[in-house]
Amino acid sequence: MAGRAGGAGDRVVIIGGGSTGALAAVRLAERGFRVTTLEKAAIGNGSSSRSSACIRAQFGVAETIIGMRYSEWWYSHFHEILETLPADTQPVIRQNGYLFLYEDPDHAAASRWHAGAVPPAALRSAAAEAWDRARERAALQQDLGVPVEVLEPDEVARRWPHIEADRLIGATWCAEDGFLAPHLIYGEGFRRARELGVEVRQGVEVTNAFLRDGRIVALETTDGPVAGDWFVNATNAWAPRVSTWLGGMELAIAPTKRYLYTLRPDEPIMSAEEWDRLPMTIYGLAPGRGACSRPDGPQLLLTWSHETDPEPDFTDADQDRISPGFNHAHGTENHGYAILEQIDAFAPRLAECGGLTATASGYYAMTPDANPLIGKDWRVPNLVHAAGFSGHGLMHAPITAVMVEAIIAGDAVDGRVRLPAPFDAHTIDLAAFNPGRDFSLTRHEAMVL
Ligand SMILES: Cc1cc2nc3c(=O)[nH]c(=O)nc-3n(C[C@H](O)[C@H](O)[C@H](O)COP(=O)(O)OP(=O)(O)OC[C@H]3O[C@@H](n4cnc5c(N)ncnc54)[C@H](O)[C@@H]3O)c2cc1C
Repeated sequence: MAGRAGGAGDRVVIIGGGSTGALAAVRLAERGFRVTTLEKAAIGNGSSSRSSACIRAQFGVAETIIGMRYSEWWYSHFHEILETLPADTQPVIRQNGYLFLYEDPDHAAASRWHAGAVPPAALRSAAAEAWDRARERAALQQDLGVPVEVLEPDEVARRWPHIEADRLIGATWCAEDGFLAPHLIYGEGFRRARELGVEVRQGVEVTNAFLRDGRIVALETTDGPVAGDWFVNATNAWAPRVSTWLGGMELAIAPTKRYLYTLRPDEPIMSAEEWDRLPMTIYGLAPGRGACSRPDGPQLLLTWSHETDPEPDFTDADQDRISPGFNHAHGTENHGYAILEQIDAFAPRLAECGGLTATASGYYAMTPDANPLIGKDWRVPNLVHAAGFSGHGLMHAPITAVMVEAIIAGDAVDGRVRLPAPFDAHTIDLAAFNPGRDFSLTRHEAMVL
């Protein structure tokens, strides 16, 4: 039984009611599987409703770049594919673009305040190296069909006059990147799933599994046993504990807190149209850099990664717990103001246009190389993990659904999954996302949103 593929009519039980569970349910149901989804609270209980919801194809691993090209295309056809009504409803993707700014090494060396104890010479070489890597990544992205541009500072100033281009050595820009509407992804996803016959059960927590001959035959839940032929662990930050309860492998996923801040302008600093078209902007990628901003209605959404200890036993309520050092209302000695200071170096008109009005939070499911774990459990062959999205799970959801379907249906040829049309010239190597991969051999993705 260990290597058998699933066939139409097999029962698939998906654990987790977020974007991953929703889109995987749709694909599997379309393929003829009998699907049940189990969510312990209400759909959207996890990170899917707590995200800054950006999407980009500007990555450094070929598999991810191809996958994100597919995801961007899929989201731009979302309403047709999921047959939403009325068809002219709110778009799920806004392709405002992603703008990565790179700091001139001399400016970086002079900016002692932003990187703590890092000496100027190290800051200079880190900025130079970041720019070299950016151009290498852009060349790979262009080879794979991403319309990414490498821009000189003058061109940045011409297109986005609010940016201090003198401080830059250059930028990379992709107009097809942008932001998503998460509530539509899981809301419409589960609506379509129900239309296709999927049983969507909320308030049902998976607590254990009944195994026979090494395979799961049923899940134990707070609402009785649920039998199936295949089981998908789509619980992201909860996935390591769920895997253990089901007799599965240890998953290299660290649930790690991330914060989002809202900045509200006191008065407009540009036309409403210009504001609305602002891209997702990343303010440098060297030590002490990496803050991001993007428009969200009349406000700006700000974020930046930070050192935090993993919280393997976090509770649902912890998702919204804001530690004092991260709360915008906790004086000016907090993470939100450090983000503003950083943006101030590149775009002072934006940073100084108003004040922080809110802090929100949720968990990233971090893996050692910041790429997800999508594949069969090496202990329990009918358990498939789709988790560990490390801050990229909404953008990954469409391609993750394709991979989960291919893994269960046994579609992979020589370990590679062919993408659906119009991307059927491309295949994805499942090994890149193997949950048991050797992380010392994999390429680490850039640590920004
Ligand atoms: C601050 C922040 C910013 C982010 N920014 C971005 C971004 O810009 N772009 C991007 O693509 N991603 C981003 N992410 C990450 C993204 O939100 C997640 O990767 C994505 O939502 C994961 O979706 P999911 O469906 O896999 O998991 P989740 O949405 O977390 O859903 C998992 C579900 O499993 C359920 N569950 C758990 N245990 C059980 C159980 N035992 N039984 C039944 N159900 C269970 C939970 O209740 C939960 O609803 C961000 C995340 C955060 C926190």
